[in-house]
Amino acid sequence: MSNVIAHYRALHQIPELSCKEYKTADYIENALRELGYAPTRVGATGVTAQLVAGEDRPWVVLRADMDGLAVGEETGSPFASRHPGQMHACGHDTHCAMLLGAAEMLRGKVLPQNILFLFQPAEENTFGALEMIAAGAMPQDLTASFGFHVWPGVPYGVPATRVGALMAASDVFEIHISGRSAHCAQRSKGNDALLTAVDIVSAFEEIESHAEDKDSLLFCGSIHSGTTHNIVPGSAMVRGTIRTYSPADRQVIKSLLAKKVEDAVAARGTQAEFIWESECPAVMNDGALVAQLREVVPELAEAQPTLAGEDFARYQELAPGILIWLGTGDTPPLHNSRFFVPEQLLEKGVELWQRIAAHDWKK
Ligand SMILES: [Zn+2]
Ligand SMILES: [Zn+2]
Repeated sequence: MSNVIAHYRALHQIPELSCKEYKTADYIENALRELGYAPTRVGATGVTAQLVAGEDRPWVVLRADMDGLAVGEETGSPFASRHPGQMHACGHDTHCAMLLGAAEMLRGKVLPQNILFLFQPAEENTFGALEMIAAGAMPQDLTASFGFHVWPGVPYGVPATRVGALMAASDVFEIHISGRSAHCAQRSKGNDALLTAVDIVSAFEEIESHAEDKDSLLFCGSIHSGTTHNIVPGSAMVRGTIRTYSPADRQVIKSLLAKKVEDAVAARGTQAEFIWESECPAVMNDGALVAQLREVVPELAEAQPTLAGEDFARYQELAPGILIWLGTGDTPPLHNSRFFVPEQLLEKGVELWQRIAAHDWKK
């Protein structure tokens, strides 16, 4: 048995927001050092450690994400967050704990390939994986990457995944519209930014209907515009997201949206600046790799895809990879203030990591 539960309890109490995982990174680094590894700090809060089988061997990356959320914890757990207003409500603490447990159980073992334990910050804002890659954390001779995510709704203790898109591409945008304000009594002297925003957002459902996959989503979560009842609004801001499983649908929605913005500003005499806040591709699990995983993990269940995003997708752009959900059963949902992971599940994750690390993925 590993120290996974102790790691989980410690990390659960110190959740930190994306890009600010300093205490978490320190904890992970210390834990790895105590296990005899020589961890590397990547950027401000990323951590990696190597288990080398031989210099000529290929690499497999085992990844855990590290960040918490701006959610006030309401679980009543004796190991609840000590950071007010912040919580590990997405289970990333369990991911780190399970990977530390794996590092503990695997140390000293002679494996078929080199293993990189990769602790990645800032998954929630989808920038962390890109930063780890930009910082050169990924091995050159990379065979495959694997990641776990605890998953409510999948039966307790059951690992699940699927071939192809498991999680959607997530594109987040802001449209800044500028017009000209005027008294409402002389509205022809103004250019209405609010009506431009309304025109654009009203077209969202029609744009969505051009996607092949009917689950594809073009969503507006916020419009800000106007100050009072009798002034033509001179500015407006629309914020939303596109969620798609297929690159084709992603492209269709993006280009129809851009066209709609162009037409709306032309009709209203306004201007728009389009800003992509983040653009993360879909988590696409490689078919041949999943077939191998089924041999290693025969109890692997079939997962239903979700429109939530995950920047594990970035590692899959470098080499085949699989994101695996680990069922928490009938727990509250992710990002909920009462979300929890039954502690006994964590040893199952450690055991799965050991099986994955011991398999020869190159064969
Ligand atoms: Zn999350
Ligand atoms: Zn998450």
